[in-house]
Amino acid sequence: MAAPIDFHTHAFPDAIARTAIAALEKSGNIKAYLDGTIDSLLASMDQAGIDKSVLCSIATRPEQFQPILDWSMAIRSSRIIPLPSIHPTDPKRRSRLEQIHALGFPGIKLHPFYQDFFLDDPSLTELYYQLSELGLLAVVHTGYDIAYPRIRRADPRRIAKVSQQFPELKLITTHLGSWDQWDEVQELLIGKPIYMELSFSLDFLDQVRIREMLLSHPREYLLFGTDSPWTDQATTLQRLKNLNLPDDYFSAITRANAARLLEG
Ligand SMILES: [Zn+2]
Repeated sequence: MAAPIDFHTHAFPDAIARTAIAALEKSGNIKAYLDGTIDSLLASMDQAGIDKSVLCSIATRPEQFQPILDWSMAIRSSRIIPLPSIHPTDPKRRSRLEQIHALGFPGIKLHPFYQDFFLDDPSLTELYYQLSELGLLAVVHTGYDIAYPRIRRADPRRIAKVSQQFPELKLITTHLGSWDQWDEVQELLIGKPIYMELSFSLDFLDQVRIREMLLSHPREYLLFGTDSPWTDQATTLQRLKNLNLPDDYFSAITRANAARLLEG
């Protein structure tokens, strides 16, 4: 069986990794499993038998676009697939998205808490149309966030609305639809053609429930992800294996769906 692709990881430039990890550990009250560098991510991938990792960066201010883009170009390889980031309020948003596309990146990461937006805000309409036109993926943090008060910035209702309004948009939700809003995910999203990456759901939901949710969803819309360094890749992969999903589900989730999306 072909080696898995992890659709959700994080790392930082060596010079700031230590500081960034320490700050995020404090704000989220969690512990990182790695030191936040690319080297340690690659070592973790080797240990877990993971072929490729999609690496999500987040521009918390418009000015961070260029340094993140430069770094993304420097680290990309056959094993590390960086997703650059633009801030939704960036006045140069349109040309920057074209640049990301021209450089061959498969998409961007958006984060409603770190970037202070609501998923269905009308100010994002143009961005969603442009992403759709360019065929770029929009990987979005969805559900609550451990580091923030419980505000419904990207909840299942908003996700359903946006995916109806922009059927061409390759919107990829994280944390099995919405972190810690899984009752609503079951009610509003499961069974619909909405991409869901699985990180931080395997650790929180019981096996019977998550298995039932996955098997009730179209299998081509599910993606394995770990949110490394915030979970251990090998442990998270083992948790997915422990669900004993049918082979066609397991291989679609761990490899085929990601490979198809990354090819564009
Ligand atoms: Zn993440």
